[in-house]
Amino acid sequence: MKSIISLALAGVLASTLVCADNLTERNVEQANAIIEAAVTAHGGEEKLGELSTLVVEFESINYSVDQSRGTEPPWDKNESSGFNAVDLDNTTFVNRANFAGGGFEADGGTIINGEESYQLDFRAGTVARIAEPDFDTTSGPFVRVTPALLVRTLQDRAANAYYLGEASVDGKDYDVVGFSMTVGPAISMYFDKQNHLLRRSERIFAGVGLVQYEFLDYEDIDGLPFNRTFKLFLNGEPNIERKNLSTRVNQSLDDLMVVDAGLESIPELEPDPLSRQEVADGVWIIGGNNTYAMFVDMGEYVFAAGGTAGIPDRIESLREVIGDKPLKYAMLTHHHFDHVMGVSAYESEGATLITSAAHEKIARRAAENGDGLEIKTVDDRMTIEAGDRTVEIIDIGPTAHTEHLLVAYLPEEGILFEADHFTLPRVGPVPPAVTSTRSFAAALGREELGVKLIFSAHSPRGATMDDLRIALETEVFQASR
Ligand SMILES: [Zn+2]
Repeated sequence: MKSIISLALAGVLASTLVCADNLTERNVEQANAIIEAAVTAHGGEEKLGELSTLVVEFESINYSVDQSRGTEPPWDKNESSGFNAVDLDNTTFVNRANFAGGGFEADGGTIINGEESYQLDFRAGTVARIAEPDFDTTSGPFVRVTPALLVRTLQDRAANAYYLGEASVDGKDYDVVGFSMTVGPAISMYFDKQNHLLRRSERIFAGVGLVQYEFLDYEDIDGLPFNRTFKLFLNGEPNIERKNLSTRVNQSLDDLMVVDAGLESIPELEPDPLSRQEVADGVWIIGGNNTYAMFVDMGEYVFAAGGTAGIPDRIESLREVIGDKPLKYAMLTHHHFDHVMGVSAYESEGATLITSAAHEKIARRAAENGDGLEIKTVDDRMTIEAGDRTVEIIDIGPTAHTEHLLVAYLPEEGILFEADHFTLPRVGPVPPAVTSTRSFAAALGREELGVKLIFSAHSPRGATMDDLRIALETEVFQASR
């Protein structure tokens, strides 16, 4: 999206200088006038107030930006479908989403309903009670893509709203008001100057950038305008295109709150603070909150595998057991943005990064000083030996998830570290294999490795070859609805 946005801030400032009014008073008045016009355009105070439940069925195309099989656009596209349902009077929320792409398949749901709140996995066939359901956080993403709900929230929180100015985007003029929801960064809302409908909204996330939503087409349902589609742009690039297949107003959500009787009950996922497991003599898996790395004591130095978030903390934990031994090599599994976050931490350790030749450019881009970064590239495989320790680095790609995937294999110990292909949940049964797990298993078969234990960048739970066999043999749960 190449939009031309010019906020008329200069005009606002100039007019406040000549105006004797208090700036805050003027701003609140302007914000309130825009909110009032928006509420009227979005069905009016009475109609919006009567909106108690909403069920929206959708299908989406998601662009895998920096998460595709290759390293450059055009990005792979994934599909998802499902529904979101909210009951504003009873603060209950239900969703279900089916996803396929990037070698993954998922079918999950959430029910937020006081004591009867659950996380559902329709693929694995499991249900976990949510002890501390959070309506605002869970329903927030749905509210933010549903103008009727956004405008209602803006109206409720008008005391927190502020006038940002006028803006012109692609030749259309807007009044822009900002406000904060109970959770997350502030939202700027762009109301069409002509009909006062919400057309765009924006938020800024630290470390991610500008997230923009577009609501370009409306239809009238029970006297309220609802968007038929929305588009989400990340830093100006298309990220999600969603079509709303049906929108139902003020229907009971009771049927949607029923938990399928066939689901197996598993414990709720507890928070997972940083921890360190020594999985073999001088081999550690260190991590928490769904990102983990492997560190291997090579005698004179340390070898690291995995570049996910939190590498500085993982290195700090490693230092507690290994002192100031140099971290000489750090292997990146692949180029996806969440797997190169640790590059700068390794760089500041003076480590040489080991990447697939195809991922060298991305590794340099992730570094503080890309040109100066020491890199050893791997075409097919590389062996590192020191003392009586051996690490084999093997490119097992292409897989369903990425064209190249480096795994670190310790033949003596039978331990293999990988990312994104076989991730066991921290609790519960081994789920049915996804497509990337199948391509990973096929690669292990081809390489004829004597693997005993598999560790993955997104789980602290080691998997045996039996677990892998179970995953491949387990059938996908058939939901009764
Ligand atoms: Zn990945």
